[in-house]
Amino acid sequence: MVIIMTKHVYNFYAGPATLPLPALKKAQEELLDFQGTGMSLMEISHRSKEYAKMHAEASGLVKELMDLPDDYKIMWLQGGASSQFYMVPLNLQQKEKSMEYVNTGVWSKKAIKEGRFYGDVKVVASSEDENFSYIPNDIEFSDNAAFAHITGNNTIYGTEYHEWPKVSSNVPLTCDMSSHIMDKVIDPKKFGVIYAGAQKNIGPAGVTLVIVREDLFGRVPENTPTLQKWKTHAEKDSLFNTGPCWAIYMCKLSLEYLKSLGGVPAIEKINRKKAKILYDVIDNSSGFYRGHAKPASRSLMNVTFNLPTSELEAKCITEGLSRGMVGLKGHRSVGGMRASIYNAMPIEGVQALADFLKEFQEKNQ
Ligand SMILES: *Cc1c(COP(=O)(O)O)cnc(C)c1O
Repeated sequence: MVIIMTKHVYNFYAGPATLPLPALKKAQEELLDFQGTGMSLMEISHRSKEYAKMHAEASGLVKELMDLPDDYKIMWLQGGASSQFYMVPLNLQQKEKSMEYVNTGVWSKKAIKEGRFYGDVKVVASSEDENFSYIPNDIEFSDNAAFAHITGNNTIYGTEYHEWPKVSSNVPLTCDMSSHIMDKVIDPKKFGVIYAGAQKNIGPAGVTLVIVREDLFGRVPENTPTLQKWKTHAEKDSLFNTGPCWAIYMCKLSLEYLKSLGGVPAIEKINRKKAKILYDVIDNSSGFYRGHAKPASRSLMNVTFNLPTSELEAKCITEGLSRGMVGLKGHRSVGGMRASIYNAMPIEGVQALADFLKEFQEKNQ
């Protein structure tokens, strides 16, 4: 696939975030006439055969790219990743069993807060003592927990799990992969539930990908509202009611791009290269750039760092912007700068940022 750069900025926003250019172009091409229907995909029935084909292809790509076994069901839901913070305990809770979480930042805390509405929550490990700059490595979940919940990548702090915590075979490991789904090869069989808001790594805002191992559908109390039960959506392949058709379509186009690059193994290689380029700049800056995350916990997706003063940070962000690098301001809980370099960020964008940062240091230290 030939990529012509007609976009003039590199978008480092944390989410919604950059999309693959070929996906945007394809959407543009098909906007007024979706595959010969004479209509936009936004205008056609979600029960039409054209839509059904696209919908099945989107799910097929997830299954293929993540190498999901047949007993894992794929759902395209609305409400954002945040809605899964309550749907997880609602669908997985079990009488007399605790729901267990690791607290690695803002998103974990929000998930924990919702869990508490349903019953006994145990926070088994936390990195709050050092402003969430690391992933705890002494995580121990109980053998009889209803589920074990982790936030796979901490978008705000720039930390990521590089090894999965152990759980006993009857405890479903549940992972919020909103900001790193498909950034690297994983063994899906290690997980009971995976969920991700699409707008960071696989598509636009408006749809949340939820993957659940089939045997877990049986747990939900019967008197739970229909739309809050995963199994309602899974049984109808996410066509129980009108879904976020356009957002699913954009995910499909993004996933096709990912596949064209060689799938997740290939994108993992690229992601590791991209992250190394930026972490090398930080590590070779003699302390001018200070990474927030401890090296062993560094994220491949969100690179967070500070400069010697907040004035220099503001200056660096403004100068970056004037060079066509957008979205570099850090989240307020960490401050400083953050470069989000999701799957759709080309290596050229990361290289341009690295060159700029080196030059900025030379001029300002
Ligand atoms: C952005 C983000 C969320 C929230 O996603 P919404 O779709 O806005 O609800 C949850 N978890 C993580 C890790 C995130 O990065």
